[in-house]
Amino acid sequence: MKNIYDYTLEELEEYFLSINEKKFKATQIFEWLYKKRVNSFDSMSNIKKETLDILKKDFIINDISIVTYKEGKDVIKFLFRLNDNQSVEAVLMKHDYGNSLCVSTQVGCNMGCKFCESGRLKKVRNLQTYEMVLQILKIEEVLNIRISHVVLMGIGEPFDNYDNVIKFIKIINSGKGIDIGARHITVSTCGIVPKIKEFIKDGNQVNLAISLHAPNNEIRNKIMNINKAYDINLLIDTLKEYISKTNRRVTFEYIMLDGVNDSVSCALELAKLLKGMNCYVNLIPYNETSHIEFKKSSDEHIRLFLDTLKKNHINVTIRKEFGGNVDAACGQLRANYEEGI
Ligand code: SF4
Repeated sequence: MKNIYDYTLEELEEYFLSINEKKFKATQIFEWLYKKRVNSFDSMSNIKKETLDILKKDFIINDISIVTYKEGKDVIKFLFRLNDNQSVEAVLMKHDYGNSLCVSTQVGCNMGCKFCESGRLKKVRNLQTYEMVLQILKIEEVLNIRISHVVLMGIGEPFDNYDNVIKFIKIINSGKGIDIGARHITVSTCGIVPKIKEFIKDGNQVNLAISLHAPNNEIRNKIMNINKAYDINLLIDTLKEYISKTNRRVTFEYIMLDGVNDSVSCALELAKLLKGMNCYVNLIPYNETSHIEFKKSSDEHIRLFLDTLKKNHINVTIRKEFGGNVDAACGQLRANYEEGI
């Protein structure tokens, strides 16, 4: 049996046609699931009983559950239990402009970025589409809020789970689904070049963020294994292609690691690398954890790095530090899972 939240509107329409039903039933189901938020087929009162019986035979409305949560200033970290007893986390950040949810896409991660707490657990499996959709629905339900922005930057590499992630984006972006605007959805990748090319071909309108974290191959090879497969020059060339084909801006995430990638010469090299690109650099103060030896750059080094990029005409900001007090900050998801948060 398939999970109903795994289906895009188009897939559900095809399903109804395949059982000799009218395809508008798919829209009705979407309205029950995403507008009226019921979680049983029996509550779908405008669908006739015979159709509901067929649906019940073919689909489950599978749940995932929130095991616990931890709250800090403007941030809440949720631990979800999946049906096979695996766990993932999602982080809600409260901004002036709305509620943003950082969603996980895999149980563990195989990319092995050296500074990343989230990737200490190797990939166990990809999340199914429904397991991403339900991270949003569950949190909206328990807090009685609406999530206005979604970032795919939780545990896992989204482009290592490409098909399920693209279906997830379609469902949450659909006006008949959760209806989050494409410009309010950001997918982040460490740089899987063939998948970025596929993303360009698909013409997806959501925002693209790249975990760059270094200005050259020498440093990037030391901290990000992915660079050995797709080096920084290939990555930048692919992103130039993305920008020219989509006319969209790329965001570069850059974690500031003391003595590793935070010198003025690194900033100059980065400015040269990104010169002329329609891009934006997000400097991220590192969140130190007890298991990883990297240290956070000093405020002074971060400021100097920022000023150097600005002087060289690169759009840049320092990301607001979120959730360091609940281990919910970038690269820290799952950090305290063993202790049961
Ligand atoms: S930074 Fe992202 S891609 Fe790299 S190991 Fe962590 S979760 Fe995986």
